[in-house]
Amino acid sequence: MCICVDCHWVDRCSTYHAVETRHGVKHLTPTPDFAPLQPRINVHLRSRGLVTTVEWDVVACNSFLRDLGRWQRLRPREAVPT
Ligand code: SF4
Repeated sequence: MCICVDCHWVDRCSTYHAVETRHGVKHLTPTPDFAPLQPRINVHLRSRGLVTTVEWDVVACNSFLRDLGRWQRLRPREAVPT
């Protein structure tokens, strides 16, 4: 699971914006203005039959600032990305 959903910077972060782009989902902001320090991203390949999907998760980041439930508060009626 991406740690960004519980990070204070999630709606301003350029790395999370890139993760959203990779997943093809709606952006929290069109103009991220925060550049995190040393985010580490895991890329998972999942195969089901003939279909392979790619998941990108930030698993560590020197700029992580814990703000539990930040993403959910920004999108209260949507499911939290996993
Ligand atoms: S954990 Fe790092 S990459 Fe993720 S939103 Fe926070 S600052 Fe950005």
